[in-house]
Amino acid sequence: MYRIDALPAFSDNYIWLLQDTTTRRCAVVDPGDAQPVLDWLAAHPDWRLDDILVTHHHPDHVGGVTRLKDATGARVSGPARENTPSRDVALDDGARIEVLGRDFVVHAVPGHTLGHIAYYQAEEGWLFSGDTLFAAGCGRLFEGTPQQMNMSLRRLAALPDATRVYCAHEYTLSNLHFARAAEPGNTAVAQRFEEVSAWRAAGRISLPSTIALEKATNPFLRCRETSIKEKIDERDGARQRTEDEVFAALRGWKDQFKVA
Ligand code: ZN
Ligand code: FE
Repeated sequence: MYRIDALPAFSDNYIWLLQDTTTRRCAVVDPGDAQPVLDWLAAHPDWRLDDILVTHHHPDHVGGVTRLKDATGARVSGPARENTPSRDVALDDGARIEVLGRDFVVHAVPGHTLGHIAYYQAEEGWLFSGDTLFAAGCGRLFEGTPQQMNMSLRRLAALPDATRVYCAHEYTLSNLHFARAAEPGNTAVAQRFEEVSAWRAAGRISLPSTIALEKATNPFLRCRETSIKEKIDERDGARQRTEDEVFAALRGWKDQFKVA
């Protein structure tokens, strides 16, 4: 039996805590800060941290790794193409790794960073997408090209609809402000905006999402839709654009988009 909780860190990060309630073993994803995890372990003295999974090298994702490993002896897995502090296992595209008795498949998803990976567990339907696929958005292109990010997002969007998406930040509401601007006529976006606004006003987390919900409401997964293409035409002038060009224009717009 598994349970997944979010341990909040910094202003808007989530450290995902996977718990196997049968064996009382757990794993964390992207511990940018060790303290929330150490506090949880101190409050649950009969639990053991087995695994630390890292999606990419940014400090808000790896900052707590070494302290946690030193304190617990947990195994550290991270992307092969990036430096991960205290890494034991280097993972590249297609790699499989067993965590808490479950087989995870690694997807290379370059774009936000060049070595970024995502962790997918098929039987349980879990996707840990780091800063690649956010709820109603995607990560900024710090290292990769729009083409790379679009390809990465298309790969994740091809996972089963029911897959639950555990991303690393609470950005959903601000992403939905942009999604509304990008697709004013999308009723699924409008509905999600109302729902997430109410959740956030009540202090509730907006995650996990699902692949089905992302395909319906995330503009960055919808670059083939006429609605998005027409919006880009309206902003940047009408011309024939490839899907990657639509994606690049959308990402560029989001980079300077201000929530009113
Ligand atoms: Zn990042
Ligand atoms: Fe981040």
